[in-house]
Amino acid sequence: MIFTHIEQAAADPILGLNDAFKADTRKTKVNLGVGVYKDDAGQTPILNVVKRAEAKLLEIEKSKNYLGIEGVQQFNHAVQTLLFGDNAEVIAQKRAVTVQAPGGTGALRIGSEFILRHTQSRTIWVSNPTWANHQNIFTTVGLEVKTYGYYNEGTHGLDFDAFLADLQHANAGDLVLLHGCCHNPTGIDLDDEQWQIIADLCLEKELIPFFDFAYQGFGRGIEDDAQGLRIVAAKVPELIVANSFSKNFGLYNERIGALTLVAENSDVAACSYSQIKRVIRANYSNPPAHGALIVSTILSDAELNLQWQQELAEMRIRIAQMRELFVETLMAEGVKQDFSFIKQQMGMFSFSGLNIEQVQQLREQFAIYIVGSGRISVAGMTTSNIPVICKAIAQV
Ligand code: PLP
Repeated sequence: MIFTHIEQAAADPILGLNDAFKADTRKTKVNLGVGVYKDDAGQTPILNVVKRAEAKLLEIEKSKNYLGIEGVQQFNHAVQTLLFGDNAEVIAQKRAVTVQAPGGTGALRIGSEFILRHTQSRTIWVSNPTWANHQNIFTTVGLEVKTYGYYNEGTHGLDFDAFLADLQHANAGDLVLLHGCCHNPTGIDLDDEQWQIIADLCLEKELIPFFDFAYQGFGRGIEDDAQGLRIVAAKVPELIVANSFSKNFGLYNERIGALTLVAENSDVAACSYSQIKRVIRANYSNPPAHGALIVSTILSDAELNLQWQQELAEMRIRIAQMRELFVETLMAEGVKQDFSFIKQQMGMFSFSGLNIEQVQQLREQFAIYIVGSGRISVAGMTTSNIPVICKAIAQV
């Protein structure tokens, strides 16, 4: 017998919360746990532009033959343009190579496995706090995870001094995980000047930026959100980007993302590309087609592209409105604690400052589900559940 001794694994901190939410029979329950966009009716809709692209694909698709290991090439080119901009030097110089990946998670996994197998780097620095799955992915692959300071509990803002001080302890070749925008879980992003400083630091200490870019378009806009990445890419010769289309195309269950590597020159990029493909071959051989075809169909058609940008802007604007309404309603409920910082945060999440006892009380007494760290998914708020949420917060 080889399975008898296997113990029950702990539930995933975020997806486990989802299971508990589903099992809760209270009618008033609200899920502010997992980072999934909901419209004001509480639904996670399929974008209209995605439906249009799918209709087009249904007509023209002729085969379900395997894709190449790297995925849909038109998709991979479109990803580079989204990341680096229309006339980016790294693209013109062929220093960037991209492979399709099963979601942002798959890209992080393939990227880190490539690092482990084909470089001397063994350490990755992540922000404290960060998305819970980062630690899980990197340690499973075999990298050592170290943390840099990021969040200042007192100001509810960025602790940039701690960030820089901690990275002073990093060694040449260490990776630094950077959230491209809409930092998860804090919602706090760097400004351009701070990105310049991080780029200089990486250059000076020979650190390798590893961007996790899961929310492009959810912060300030598609181009603005890529500003940090573009600042770093203009200075640092080598970097990696794991990006996801789960959120900005609403393609959560299609598992579509990409891994992009930028090298010092096109020859090094081509060698790296060949080895990344070997890592993919050993994991899942080649990726699924549907999500990539949807994204590339939309990005290669001017009209569909425009419609996508409009629908993405609607999601972004709705979340910003929910932030405003949340803060106003808390004040109207007589909550003394200052929550105005929530309006300055970017993207789907807010680090609310609620402690673990308050989070538990919200769940047990009011059926409001929030991650233990106090992270709230603002994207799960609606005009009808905000009053309920704020009343409950006022009581805890
Ligand atoms: N990175 C961050 C910071 C995320 O928040 C998420 C999803 O929640 C991902 C990566 C993974 O995205 P995907 O669902 O595309 O794997």
